[in-house]
Amino acid sequence: MDSGNPYNKKESNLIKRARMSECKSAKNKARCNCSYEPCSRKGVCCDCLAYHWRNRELPACMFPDAVERTYDRSLRRFIEIYRDEA
Ligand code: SF4
Repeated sequence: MDSGNPYNKKESNLIKRARMSECKSAKNKARCNCSYEPCSRKGVCCDCLAYHWRNRELPACMFPDAVERTYDRSLRRFIEIYRDEA
């Protein structure tokens, strides 16, 4: 048994995380409300968030469906919608 080896533990944790990521990706895709169909980031929330945040935008799931369909994912639009709920 090699459970005392820190490298094996590290590798084991990386594999677990990778498996969790695959699993969550499928679940995320199933509940994703994004109507922009050709996007390769759909279901990969970390990539989706990083992509939009670079432009000071937020992912589709942060907006009501009617607003999501306008593709205005700007921080300004998000604040306009939720300003009174803060
Ligand atoms: S919100 Fe943007 S990055 Fe995310 S799936 Fe839709 S189009 Fe792609």
